[in-house]
Amino acid sequence: MKIPGIASAVPLSLVFLALMVLGSYGRAQVSEQMTPLLLAVQDAPVPFTGSDGRVHLVYELEMTNFSSAEILVEKVEVFDDGVSLQTLDTTAVAERLQPAGMRESVGTLARSTRALLFLNVVLAPGAKVPAELSHRVALRVSAAPAGQQEFDQSGGKTTVDRRPVASIGPPLRGMRYISADSCCDAVRHTRAALPVNGRVWVAQRYAVDWEQTDAGGHIYAGPRDKLESYAIFGQPVLAVANAVVVSVIDGEPEQTPGNYPTNIPLDKADGNSIILDLGHQRYALYAHMQPGSLKVHRGDKVQLGQVIGLVGDTGNSVVPHLHFQVTDGPSSLSSNGLPYEISEFQVTGATAGTKAFDEAESNGTPLPITPVAPPHTVKQAMPLDQLIISFAPH
Ligand SMILES: [Zn+2]
Repeated sequence: MKIPGIASAVPLSLVFLALMVLGSYGRAQVSEQMTPLLLAVQDAPVPFTGSDGRVHLVYELEMTNFSSAEILVEKVEVFDDGVSLQTLDTTAVAERLQPAGMRESVGTLARSTRALLFLNVVLAPGAKVPAELSHRVALRVSAAPAGQQEFDQSGGKTTVDRRPVASIGPPLRGMRYISADSCCDAVRHTRAALPVNGRVWVAQRYAVDWEQTDAGGHIYAGPRDKLESYAIFGQPVLAVANAVVVSVIDGEPEQTPGNYPTNIPLDKADGNSIILDLGHQRYALYAHMQPGSLKVHRGDKVQLGQVIGLVGDTGNSVVPHLHFQVTDGPSSLSSNGLPYEISEFQVTGATAGTKAFDEAESNGTPLPITPVAPPHTVKQAMPLDQLIISFAPH
């Protein structure tokens, strides 16, 4: 194979890259460019209003390095009809780009690697919701000839999914709840992309692990390994809408708080759990409840606010908490997370972040909280990550 300017002995990978930088040879009627980084969006974002009053577009931009060389992703821009909505610089990309099956993020994609860039596009106040999004990515391909290593690539067009967002009631009642690992930049739920039944799903995209503090800011007081030490243990769990029960799992034993359970099979990870059919292809999952506390059966109709169980520590759970999520299917893993908006709640504070929360949860020390005074009443919004929240009655 003879390529102008390239020695015939060079590896095929470099020929490939040379083709990319040399462009077309004039035979094709349309302009052709090698695009070693393939961009795609599998699940269109569903816009929703967060408790910050802003509209968020949360989705994953899939990147495939279809080459035999490393690619550094230097910049990613998100566009609405040619207008830039968000720019991620090299550092921001490196915090949000995760190779398939990895929990660690990277800035450089190894050869032949597929990855997801987890995006949270926050619209300016009052801005119209885009109909379609597109992307421009600035790359550095180290194996390309000097001076031709950096170039831009566009792709990953997606529509914006304008299906109505579920409006629901609160899953709990009372004060001082923590919206742990909620949307949109926390990693443990929003980035839980899992290959199940032949497809990648992000069922936990908008999941929350609800925890609670006592009046002194402690997540637990007393022995760490005792269920009753935890402020949230035994709190009533509420139906978030008039709904039909489609799945009930009961009989799973409590874990010992503070210990990560081992060898939990996939079908027992939710512990004692309930899935409600909210209608319009939306399903609410409640996980980790107390054994024997589930008050409903498959096929039952429940009413908004009805107590359906008690908060426990069953399944894949390290401390008592309520895992709550809404998805587009009646399963906890092979479905896609959907946003929802809670009709009304109060934000009374914000924690110092996930790291501080993890420390308070481990050590039983007071959770550092910046109060919101007076408390901020929020209507029709999703509680964002690491807020202190009261639900009526409070
Ligand atoms: Zn969870």
